[in-house]
Amino acid sequence: MASAFETLNKILKLEREQGYENKAVISGLEAMVRSWPVKAVREAPPTTPVVEEIVALLRDYGSLPDQAARRERVAQIVDKLALCRQIIEGIVEERPAPSPAAPELQERPAEPPAPPSPSLPGLDSPVTVLVGVGKNRAEQFKKLGITTIRDLLYHFPHRYNDYSALKTINQLQYGETVTIMGAIWETKSRRTRKGGTLIQSIIADGTATIQATWFNQPYLLKELKAGRQIVLSGKIDAYLGRLVMNSPEWEFLDKEQIHTGRLVSVYPLTKGLRAKWLRRLIKRTVSYWSKRLPDHLPPQVCESLNLPDLERALTQIHFPDDKESLEQARRRLSFDEFLLIQLGVLRQRQLWRSRPGRPLEANPALLEAFCASLPFALTTAQKRVTNEIVSDLGQAHPMSRLLQGDVGSGKTVVAAAAMLMVSAAGAQAVLMAPTEILAEQHLKSLRLLYEQLDDSATRPPRVRLLTGSVTGDARERVYADIASGEADVIVGTHALIQQGVEFQDLALAIVDEQHRFGVEQRSALRQKGHNPHMLVMTATPIPRTLSLTIYGDLDVSTLDEMPPGRQPIETRWFLPRERERAYNLIRSQVEKGHQAFIICPLVEESGQIEAKAAVEEHERLQQNIFPDLSLGLLHGRLKGAEKEAVMARFQRKELDILVSTSVVEVGIDVPNATVMLVEGANRFGLAQLHQFRGRVGRGKARSICILLSDTPSEDSVERLRAIESTQDGFKLAEVDLEMRGPGEFFGTRQSGMPPLRMAKLSDVHILEQARRIAKDIFERDPALKDPQHRLLARKLAEFWQGQADLS
Ligand code: ADP
Ligand code: MG
Repeated sequence: MASAFETLNKILKLEREQGYENKAVISGLEAMVRSWPVKAVREAPPTTPVVEEIVALLRDYGSLPDQAARRERVAQIVDKLALCRQIIEGIVEERPAPSPAAPELQERPAEPPAPPSPSLPGLDSPVTVLVGVGKNRAEQFKKLGITTIRDLLYHFPHRYNDYSALKTINQLQYGETVTIMGAIWETKSRRTRKGGTLIQSIIADGTATIQATWFNQPYLLKELKAGRQIVLSGKIDAYLGRLVMNSPEWEFLDKEQIHTGRLVSVYPLTKGLRAKWLRRLIKRTVSYWSKRLPDHLPPQVCESLNLPDLERALTQIHFPDDKESLEQARRRLSFDEFLLIQLGVLRQRQLWRSRPGRPLEANPALLEAFCASLPFALTTAQKRVTNEIVSDLGQAHPMSRLLQGDVGSGKTVVAAAAMLMVSAAGAQAVLMAPTEILAEQHLKSLRLLYEQLDDSATRPPRVRLLTGSVTGDARERVYADIASGEADVIVGTHALIQQGVEFQDLALAIVDEQHRFGVEQRSALRQKGHNPHMLVMTATPIPRTLSLTIYGDLDVSTLDEMPPGRQPIETRWFLPRERERAYNLIRSQVEKGHQAFIICPLVEESGQIEAKAAVEEHERLQQNIFPDLSLGLLHGRLKGAEKEAVMARFQRKELDILVSTSVVEVGIDVPNATVMLVEGANRFGLAQLHQFRGRVGRGKARSICILLSDTPSEDSVERLRAIESTQDGFKLAEVDLEMRGPGEFFGTRQSGMPPLRMAKLSDVHILEQARRIAKDIFERDPALKDPQHRLLARKLAEFWQGQADLS
């Protein structure tokens, strides 16, 4: 505690010890009013109103009639000092500022004037301007993504404890969660056998008594003084046949209840940050600042949709009066997020569409010849989507299209057709994949597809590969071919977007497995051409709500049909003790001439540790389980050429089993592989499991996917059940989204979408409302110039700050 307060405390202690004779200070305690308040206020300005009250209590101390009166007065001052301490520690709400300062505070005898306060704190001031938030706290807050007061206001509870049921002690029942009110009878401290402390209070409310216990909070002994009125919330437990409360939430009755007796907010915390402290700080911050946060939504919008204003929404989201108000607050804050996303997306789309593109002449004869040359007939969906893309390529503004299709739906051949059209028109096309293995595989497929092309009028596209493994002279040659136009179709990885890669005339950029790339990478690829047509492909099916939300600026094509003849993949969830059975299944498939994948468990720490685990598992399997078979190993630490060699051997059937980490997840196409065993399946996300499973079932033979899980959490049981029961990627994506929320579903970084804190993608209704309003606003005032949109424009800029464009 600051020193002026400490001093007064000591003086009061002395006064008490001396029997309240007003001798602790030579000229009487009342003399303290001269310089003490000035020092106190300088040390801790927010205590000003309380210091004034202390001054009032000190001023006539000398003229109090007797010792009893003085004792009473000292007790009052001690209470006020305690309040000061709480203010200094930042745990109670500041009182409203005093009207005119008390005379004692204005006369500053020997003291120099206090420095004028620096410019007033605002919503974007760092949290350290809040009383009680110092450097350490600021560090902790940073871990939660909070740096400013505004961030703190938007630090939403992740759940609420419902302590709104109030009961008398005689009505309590075992197991229920309730709130009780009563007086503290007594509080005792005991040592536990393990050397901790146990604080036990007996609470009485006139109907009965109950014991409440707290562990290892010795300071409670002093706080929970007998006679004080207290409110307790928590679960009713039993001990030796009597009802008790263990570690209940508590607070004194004379304060506004924020920890008990209501819907109590529960916040995401970080090490060192205590729930009760944070709740108090947020309470104080919300009461003061929510009024000062201007509402960016025009009032008519709130009215027409029956949404609360921003102040009410923020107050209620943190400290809801009841469930209904909470729901209203949620609706309002979710609406805000959707609206800002939609406005951003509309603007993006307009911007993109206003750029001049490069119309490419269609070549229907060539397209037909290409289709005829394929070893299979395109599905109806593939034909439809190819036509959509080819027609886009002929437009005068650049294409911006998302092609989504479940694993194995045949996106590559569609991309190949599009690139063929571009090459025939004399321009270049590029296909960027997330891994070298995949890029190499694409190179092979494209060459194969174009080789069959029997169209004497057109020469087949010249395809080149550019990955990190293409080095030295070879790389220089590829660079030169790309720059001169010798290369028509270029396939590669991130290596494509490096400096030094110059295209002669890039007209179409395709990104495969686009969710694997960051926004900047996609945008860097686009920069390689002059407003090239863009096609992004994904095998992670995107539920409609999400695609409207984050891809609202893209046109969407969907491959909703699988090529014919695919065998369903049987998925089975095995327990660890059934591992032997899984191995037998693998063996029997290999005996039939098929191949298998074994996926090692996900290791979070690092790629290095994961690789090591994979090496060990490979060795164990090779030596102990399948000594007679030939096993390969694939992990992220292998060099590009090594990976390629392993994949090539697997593809040539020289390997029976490929042991791999999750690197095998994307795009690998080995139709002869019919078994996939995923170890530690509970550690993978749904989308990832679905991707793994998509590595088998690509040929004509029946395939099986075995999921082995160690003790799964509740969440993962749900995931495993879901994947076991359906093969529909869209359905799984919905489940996944539901369980994980959009941020994690995509990884916010990749999506290029500002993080959603409140909105859930299951809030379709709110999303639709936001879309409607956004369109309406955008049509009438696209630049948000209207004075009533001024705040909205600012909010929009803030919201999208740091987010590159989406496509
Ligand atoms: P994905 O959409 O997952 O990228 P691919 O493009 O890799 O799928 O295609 C998966 C497999 O299906 C490939 O072996 C491909 O040759 C084959 N394929 C694609 N289209 C058809 C079709 N219409 N009929 C039969 N097989 C097809
Ligand atoms: Mg693919």
